[in-house]
Amino acid sequence: MALKITDECIACGACIPECPTNSITEGSPYVIDPATCVECVGHFDTPQCQSVCPVADTAILKA
Ligand code: SF4
Ligand code: SF4
Repeated sequence: MALKITDECIACGACIPECPTNSITEGSPYVIDPATCVECVGHFDTPQCQSVCPVADTAILKA
């Protein structure tokens, strides 16, 4: 259960501070660690990285 960031990521950096499990690493594209991403279950009602991402529809998908 994890999300992944695609090549559509524009490297804005908005998602990093929102992740409750510190699963996102800076890069081009940014990277979500599938071992620690819990899709925000137990922390928030919706995935916070998707909530803040300006291009979430194409940049953050189900892994
Ligand atoms: S879905 Fe939640 S836990 Fe997973 S990377 Fe995004 S903010 Fe972090
Ligand atoms: S918020 Fe979206 S565009 Fe910005 S770094 Fe994260 S995944 Fe990339």
